[in-house]
Amino acid sequence: MILPTEDGIIFRIKKYAIHDGPGIRTTVFLKGCPMACLWCHNPEGIRPEPEPLKADAKTSSGPKAIGKRTSVSDIMAAVKKDIIFYDESGGGVTFSGGEPMFQPGFLKSLLIACRDQEIHTAIDTSGCAPPNVFSELSEMTDLLLFDLKIIDSSTHAKYTTVANDDVLQNLNLASEQATPVRIRFPLVPGITDERDNLNAVADLVGSLQTIDTIDILPFHRTGEGKYDRLQRDKHLPETAPPTDDMIRQVSELFEERGLIVNVGG
Ligand code: SF4
Repeated sequence: MILPTEDGIIFRIKKYAIHDGPGIRTTVFLKGCPMACLWCHNPEGIRPEPEPLKADAKTSSGPKAIGKRTSVSDIMAAVKKDIIFYDESGGGVTFSGGEPMFQPGFLKSLLIACRDQEIHTAIDTSGCAPPNVFSELSEMTDLLLFDLKIIDSSTHAKYTTVANDDVLQNLNLASEQATPVRIRFPLVPGITDERDNLNAVADLVGSLQTIDTIDILPFHRTGEGKYDRLQRDKHLPETAPPTDDMIRQVSELFEERGLIVNVGG
């Protein structure tokens, strides 16, 4: 049983989000992730603690710390301001990261606080969490956005730093729970788009009776400047976003297995 905690570390609250689940949402980004995917476009979410961010020459924003210890009540104060938009659009709150389950007690308190206000919640998860933690938290939310990247475990470890045993076990758990699940598949040219991986993703998701929707998230370079500001090496400096043709082919492959495919969030 996860012990709820009253504060934790977040690095952003995004209002009026429209790609993180249904309707108009507020997305709360929790800091800390057990993976370090080469294509991560939120690298400031990986380390658990606050860290320095260098000045940004392009926007002339000065140096600052990214990540801040924040209380559940402060987050709820921000979240509650937009209840009218959630109600009118069928939206709510999405907890993202980083990996939101990396701070399980904090996430649990936030889910309880939203439930008390009858606000719809979604967890955007990599699935990389101890199965008992995953199971408890996923039963407390209204929607799981479950990232599935690479099926072969050693290839998964090569590109994300972590093997995928927990991810696959948790996907199985998720498919047996009542909470609806949408799969999110990052389409990263040269990595996740290998034919064997595409077939394995399609076979696995297609075999799950309760999960029928997959969102293709095309690789993009918009988070790139953050690597410089965090003084970290960019891992994929040469990789271009997938072409429309590539996205269409992957969509067709998934559709042929009976999956409902969306491109984007
Ligand atoms: S799991 Fe998500 S947040 Fe964590 S490193 Fe990978 S892409 Fe980034």
